[in-house]
Amino acid sequence: MTSPDPQALRPRLPSPLQEIDDEPFSRRGIRLLLKRDDLIHPALPGNKWRKLAPNLRAAAEAGDRALLTFGGAYSNHLRATAAAGRLLGFATIGVVRGDELAGAPLNPSLARCAADGMRLHFIDRAGYRRKADPEFLAALHDRFGAFRVIPEGGSNSLAAQGCTELGRELRGAADTVAVACGTGGTLAGLAAGLAPGQRAIGVPVLKGGRPHFLHETVTGLQRAAFGGPRGDWRLAEDFHFGGYARRTPELDAFADAFEERHGLPVERVYVAKLLFALTALAGEGAFAPGTAVAAVITGTP
Ligand SMILES: *Cc1c(COP(=O)(O)O)cnc(C)c1O
Repeated sequence: MTSPDPQALRPRLPSPLQEIDDEPFSRRGIRLLLKRDDLIHPALPGNKWRKLAPNLRAAAEAGDRALLTFGGAYSNHLRATAAAGRLLGFATIGVVRGDELAGAPLNPSLARCAADGMRLHFIDRAGYRRKADPEFLAALHDRFGAFRVIPEGGSNSLAAQGCTELGRELRGAADTVAVACGTGGTLAGLAAGLAPGQRAIGVPVLKGGRPHFLHETVTGLQRAAFGGPRGDWRLAEDFHFGGYARRTPELDAFADAFEERHGLPVERVYVAKLLFALTALAGEGAFAPGTAVAAVITGTP
């Protein structure tokens, strides 16, 4: 392990805001802005920096030595936590969904986690669903010793508070701000940080198991972080393309064409669905002519 470096997590903030000329928008008199959160930090791109930073600060203040968190085999959050642990000198433990992965060669994402010193612990899906149960966490403590728990996706009240800065950076810049949603922490904070009159749209990339589940999650995060609902936000739920990491030829063709038009590599799990959704909504007349729409670019491929 390299020695901890408190400067190592220094971000590029505020993240750049770029206006682009994209025909499906400009043809309707709508301005399209890209909020380049993917440029915040090379090791913790995008919203993962904004969500982890306050948690890491709290861990350091509490004297915690180890962080334990949860994710799927391709989780950007696991990667960001592993990188932050290496840079700041925390031990990290990643509880990974899917016991069939134990003993198999690591995919590139998990290999990066391991190279950053993360201990990987694979559990089956039934066990993974119990990840917030006290008995389950007690069993993990018996196995791994003392640690601070960061929830799946990093989305807790500190994370939502960290993401209010994203909203504040966009005050006065756009009428509508849109972000792709996994666990919803980014949307919860973004909406809280915008000015009155600005509205936020979240585009879920997972297919909700229960109706309104994500809506309740965002509302709950706002209650925990801010004491109640904040901001004007809604979910555009028709753009998950079948679920997490699922894609279709139509989505791929859209993302390829966007890349070609603008020379911007489009991350396919989250950002492609966000940009597709905004383009479809613009086509349906959801944004008035003369307004500006900002898309939060939360990651790179
Ligand atoms: C994690 C992630 C998101 C989703 O953020 P949530 O706060 O979990 O909703 C969006 N985009 C990218 C690139 C991500 O890695």
